[in-house]
Amino acid sequence: MRLSQMLFVTLREDPAEAEIPSHKLLLRAGYMRRVASGVYAYLPLLWRVLTKISAIVRDEMNATGAQECLLPQLQPADLWRESGRWDTYTKAEGIMFSLVDRRQQEMGLGPTHEEVITAIARDMIRSYRQLPLHLYQIQTKFRDEIRPRFGLMRGREFIMKDGYSFHADAPSLKQTYRDMYDAYSNILRRCGLEFRAVDADSGAIGGSGSTEFMVLAEAGEDEVLYTADGQYAANVEKAVSQPVDAAPSPFTTFETLDTPNTPTIESLAKFLQCSPTQIVKNVLYQAGFDSGKRVLVLVSIRGDQDVNEVKLTNALTNLAANYGGTTLLSLEVPDADAQQAWAARPLPLGYIAPNLADDYIKPGVSDLEPKFLRLIDQTAVNLKNFVTGSNRSGYHTVGGNWGTDFPQPKTVVDVRKAMAGDRACHDPNQTLETARGIEIGHIFQLGTKYSQALGATYTSESGEELPLMMGCYGVGVSRLAQAAVEQSYDKHGIIWPVAIAPYQAIVVIPNMGDDLQVTAAIKLYQELNTAGVETLLDDRNERAGVKFKDADLIGIPYRIVTGRALGDGKVEVAERATGIVQEVAITAVVSLIKSWIDEELIG
Ligand code: ATP
Ligand code: MG
Repeated sequence: MRLSQMLFVTLREDPAEAEIPSHKLLLRAGYMRRVASGVYAYLPLLWRVLTKISAIVRDEMNATGAQECLLPQLQPADLWRESGRWDTYTKAEGIMFSLVDRRQQEMGLGPTHEEVITAIARDMIRSYRQLPLHLYQIQTKFRDEIRPRFGLMRGREFIMKDGYSFHADAPSLKQTYRDMYDAYSNILRRCGLEFRAVDADSGAIGGSGSTEFMVLAEAGEDEVLYTADGQYAANVEKAVSQPVDAAPSPFTTFETLDTPNTPTIESLAKFLQCSPTQIVKNVLYQAGFDSGKRVLVLVSIRGDQDVNEVKLTNALTNLAANYGGTTLLSLEVPDADAQQAWAARPLPLGYIAPNLADDYIKPGVSDLEPKFLRLIDQTAVNLKNFVTGSNRSGYHTVGGNWGTDFPQPKTVVDVRKAMAGDRACHDPNQTLETARGIEIGHIFQLGTKYSQALGATYTSESGEELPLMMGCYGVGVSRLAQAAVEQSYDKHGIIWPVAIAPYQAIVVIPNMGDDLQVTAAIKLYQELNTAGVETLLDDRNERAGVKFKDADLIGIPYRIVTGRALGDGKVEVAERATGIVQEVAITAVVSLIKSWIDEELIG
């Protein structure tokens, strides 16, 4: 492709809308344009990158026996009602775009395709003989994200490969899950990315396992905890660890102390000169279930620990049936406004004890559970002579014990957040370290959640009618493209891995007025393309300096310049990644570049 004929517009300045390097660079280098919040036009250079990533994804998926298809983006609400997800996905913080058509039918734009694929399986899979089966697609997804940001990282319209597998039994599902683990590892390796596979939260669905594929980068929205021995890596949402031991409490008698201005654990520990591990902290949450019931939740946890809200969400979802529901719709720390809606009188915030009286909740409100749901985290269960609130502002109790001074909450949960510095569960000599990660892929053993909800069954070998076992597997294709940039750039611009670069080589003509330069460049450009090297020709009427800057900015792996050395039958060849420049005989250029590319394209 000749640059003079391309839509090629680069920017010198960083666009104000972009915060992270990869986002700035893709905009500056003319790969994409923002059309609306979280909505981007993928321009020709970026489209080539996305096409290459998709080709690698296809190749690896097909190698496992999965089959490509294309499912509708426009999906009927009724299907989503069958799975029970319509309301959760379209109301409140739901991320599904929905609309009403001219026949007054409600429809949604697909954020994911479990419902559609399960309905198809229900119609088409009859017998165990048809199993296992794995279908995938590469398609634009729509999600009305609450915080679209960082360009392609969190878009409202983005490209995803999603696949769904169907099985007669768990071992078959596990086999496909392992195959997908390998396929995803291959995809990321072939795209030239450094990544880590980590244990992930499977949400309230439970399931028997899920793995996320994380590209490590400072700008990542996820936190990964891992051990240096390589034995453990998990998303912080899911991570487990051993907390440090609690220090023995110095308080031996139960009493209430005047502790002015100590609403935080830090201020209290300082005032009482005790360790936060001797304090029971009581954190108040407001939960909303799909039944419409609002419940106030009081979590007692050791003072040095924090609540992991993902784990708390899972714990509450498991209790949803107690409130006539099946799932949790919202979870928040109630602010002053929210408290006004249910508190009968002002709460002793910062001084709450585990036995905070239920009459703080207004009586007789129909959708409001009249009693606190009291949960205790494992870390608080074995504390003796602990410090905690008194339900009176400015006062705390010390020397408290479960059973004698406070009834111990019946429901014991594990909702503590694992932290860097914690001891690892598999080996207490290993401590958890932290890194930021960009989630690129997620593979998931779903089990029978959707097949049961939609009645997708098959007839087993023994003639039984059983729900299909399912797995699902997603890769963010457009997010991957940007993550590659986030992992590989310098002050001059993007440094694409060869496998997904839009073009592999660029031939630059420094002086368009010099016929020798122009003729040599066009000849090389043609020879390279004929040899299968995807090559650009910078034949614009621009200064040499501008052309060099642009070639660096757009990140083409190999640059060939028909400059001064032409007289000796040589051209200058530069590697973008290393910056190494050498003079090479014109006759040797094509085979040299080809050999470099072959070396990079590990298959
Ligand atoms: P996240 O936690 O980042 O919102 P998710 O758990 O919602 O991701 P999945 O539903 O598992 O993601 O989707 C599969 C893949 O699609 C993700 O691993 C990610 O690479 C990509 N993806 C998800 N949401 C977006 C988005 N808003 N923009 C771009 N890519 C996305
Ligand atoms: Mg999401």
